Amino acid sequence: MLSDQEFLRYQRQIMLPELGESGQRLLLGAKVLIVGCGGLGSTVALQLAGAGIGKLVLCDDDSVELSNLHRQLSYRESDLGQAKAQALAGQIKRLNPSISTRSVSRRMSLDLLNIEVSLADLVIDCSDNFPTRQDINKACTSNQIPLVSGAAIGWDGQVAYFDGQQQSACYHCLYPFNESNQATKCSDAGVMGPSVNMTGSLQSMLAIRAITEPETLNTGELIVFNGREMSHQKFAIEKDDSCAVCSEGNNNE
Ligand SMILES: [Zn+2]
Repeated sequence: MLSDQEFLRYQRQIMLPELGESGQRLLLGAKVLIVGCGGLGSTVALQLAGAGIGKLVLCDDDSVELSNLHRQLSYRESDLGQAKAQALAGQIKRLNPSISTRSVSRRMSLDLLNIEVSLADLVIDCSDNFPTRQDINKACTSNQIPLVSGAAIGWDGQVAYFDGQQQSACYHCLYPFNESNQATKCSDAGVMGPSVNMTGSLQSMLAIRAITEPETLNTGELIVFNGREMSHQKFAIEKDDSCAVCSEGNNNE
């Protein structure tokens, strides 16, 4: 049963027939791991806290810098120099004090990811580099935990959902390499704030649906948004039978 306060707070989304009270209870009971508290992670964390996701674990080893503020709108000038995972937890507290948060202000090794992922119902990859993305995918695949992936660069963004099940494609099936030849960091290539925020919003949407109605999501579907054309495309990611992470016979260390 929702309390009167919870019902009032979330009534505009409870009204949606696809969510309803049962969906809201699922959100309140969910535990979500967010890796990366930059433009994507800070957008996702506030939106999920607003929606009433009960427990959020926030991971980032960076501090807030002046060059973040054009797109990382959860942070204020007064947060400069503070650890992002801590500053973000503070914003969540002000938005919705009933949400439980835990901040991890250190680099996420594969061992640490395996522990954190195993404790989560859903993982959201908001990291900004390929090695971390690959490690998050390994941990999600070996623990069979669903993953919402997202990336934004320039004017563009992309998101994908992976259900973590053995028969499904994983992130490594899509990107079987650790480094990209293209500049993939915002510090190298530049990025528009709205592209990042929109990509984060799409990740939040996928996360809410993954928790409340996972059967309606297509696992292994990549959605690519072009911010100059204002267009998007969907691609089905094929499972790679020789994938080093998810194919049979791999132990996914
Ligand atoms: Zn794979």
